[in-house]
Amino acid sequence: MPSDETANAAPKGGKCPICGKPPVQKFRPFCSQRCQHIDLGRWLGERYRISPDESPTEPPGEPGEDES
Ligand SMILES: [Zn+2]
Repeated sequence: MPSDETANAAPKGGKCPICGKPPVQKFRPFCSQRCQHIDLGRWLGERYRISPDESPTEPPGEPGEDES
């Protein structure tokens, strides 16, 4: 297996970390601005409680997600 770079922290050509769809160049590594906002909301949520004007339909954690 010459092409095994699991040590790389930045997955290339992967999927949207929010919903698992193929990422869009404009919103990489996310598939859409919504998923980008969801991820940003999570990130900021550790310090602030924000109220996004959009209602994310994706659950905070999908079943089968790898939890370390
Ligand atoms: Zn997505």
